[in-house]
This record gives sequence, C-alpha cells and structure tokens, in this order.
Amino acid sequence: MIETETLGVALGGRTILDGLNLRFGQGGITALVGPNGAGKSTLLHALAGLLRPARGRVTVEGLDMARAAPIDRAKAVALLTQSERVTARLTVADLVGFGRWPHHKGRPGAEDHRQVAEAMELFDLTALSGQLLDSLSGGQRQRAFTAMAYAQETPWMLLDEPLSALDPRYSRDLMERLQGLTRPGPGARSVIIVLHDLSAAARYADRVVALKGGRLVTSGPASLKLTGEMLSGLFGTGLAVETVRGRRLVAPV
Ligand code: ADP
Ligand code: MG
Repeated sequence: MIETETLGVALGGRTILDGLNLRFGQGGITALVGPNGAGKSTLLHALAGLLRPARGRVTVEGLDMARAAPIDRAKAVALLTQSERVTARLTVADLVGFGRWPHHKGRPGAEDHRQVAEAMELFDLTALSGQLLDSLSGGQRQRAFTAMAYAQETPWMLLDEPLSALDPRYSRDLMERLQGLTRPGPGARSVIIVLHDLSAAARYADRVVALKGGRLVTSGPASLKLTGEMLSGLFGTGLAVETVRGRRLVAPV
C-alpha cells in the first residue's frame, strides 16, 4: 500500500499539494485524473520520494520515502515522468537496461539480460532494440521509457501520461498489458497512471483519484466515481459518460 499522510508539497514558495490523505491499495490500476496544473505530476514525484514534502509523509509498504535510501526507493517504485528526455546516443536496449540499475548496480548478469529482453518483447520493441532513441517516433520512444520502468521490476509503477504520444492501437495495447501486469499472482504490479484519456480511465481503471488545485476531489472505484457530473465539475466543462457497445466512454457534451 502507498499512503500519504497530510501530504503537503511546496514548489517555488507556492503550495502545490495540500493536506492529502490518500491510500493506494495494492493491485489493479488507479487512474489519477484532474485538470492541467492540478498537481498530478507533483504527486507522482512525491510518491516516488523524489520531492521532499513540506508537510506530512509518504510511505510505500511502510517505507518512509523521504528517509529511504535511493536504492530502496528505486526497488519499491518505478516512475515514468512526463518529460523523459535523453541527450546521449543510446539504443532502445541501453535505455531499457537502465531500468535494471537498482538490481545490478553496474554489473548486469544473465537475469538482467533476461528481464530486458522480456520488457522489450512485452512492449513490442524487440525489432527496435538496436535503434538509437533519437531515431524513433515519439510513440516508440514513449514505449521504450515504459519498458524501462517495467524492467525496474518494482511492485509499483507510476506512469505520467504514458498514452500521450501513442496511436489508438498502442494505447489500447499498453492499457491491456497494464491490466495483465496487475492481475493478482506472483510478480503482480500495482499501477498508478495519469490519464487525460478519460475513456481509457473508464474502461481500464479499477480505481480513480481526482485532484484539483492540489487537493483531493474524490477517490474510489472507477465504476462508481467516474460520472459525468464529477468529471464536468472537475474539468469545468460538460462531459458525459455514455455506454457504447457495453463499454463506458467519456464524451464532451
Ligand atoms: P499536473 O501534472 O496536474 O498538470 P503539476 O504537478 O505539473 O500539475 O503542477 C502543479 C502546479 O505546480 C502547477 O501550477 C505548476 O505550475 C506548479 N509547478 C510545477 N513544478 C514547479 C516548480 N518546479 N516550481 C514551481 N512551481 C511548479
Ligand atoms: Mg503533469
């Protein structure tokens, strides 16, 4: 479980997150939704222990993330940020291999190579493994970063808008893979994912956490909480949840 207790974060002298008491239960997919500037990315950084809270604390399976050693944080939580950029001339396989650092600390072994190969296979990157990152499309690069986060082999994966550059096929593909990864069983992952594709949230998320202005608006099962009324208030624009061919879709109205 990830817990925040009266979590407050200030950046540049401004309060960005304020008094958040959240509990993320293990397993499944939690969609983090809210308007631009709500504090979603800040929250993911705080959950990963990459921001020191001004108030309160974050624990991951009881580990106090502000006090934990970087290696322990990196074994608990993998964070895919919104603005991943690499300037070095790296191949896809190099990048995905970085995910293994907390495990091998610079000396990759057979198990690390196996995990990297598995991650590339899972995210349909095997054919691209020798390509330089700067020769890929935005969506291919995004998949490579997601595979790196997967290869880190953490119980928690925090993904900040991983669908933003993906075409419809790869968006669906990623969400279905994440569903597979979160199915109960040995090695199951728990996923917290920032989504602006609200139909993807309605279709794939088990739970939802809605933020606005650095505060919690609502949280709970997606099937109950993702309603047109809640979303219209959250985003300040008309949104409706409709059922098409048995699936819930979110449409502007
Ligand atoms: P979201 O991901 O929900 O769009 P962010 O967490 O990125 O929102 O940002 C929340 C607020 O924090 C925004 O108002 C943003 O301008 C502000 N902010 C983000 N990073 C910084 C920073 N490094 N310094 C000052 N303000 C920041
Ligand atoms: Mg953001």
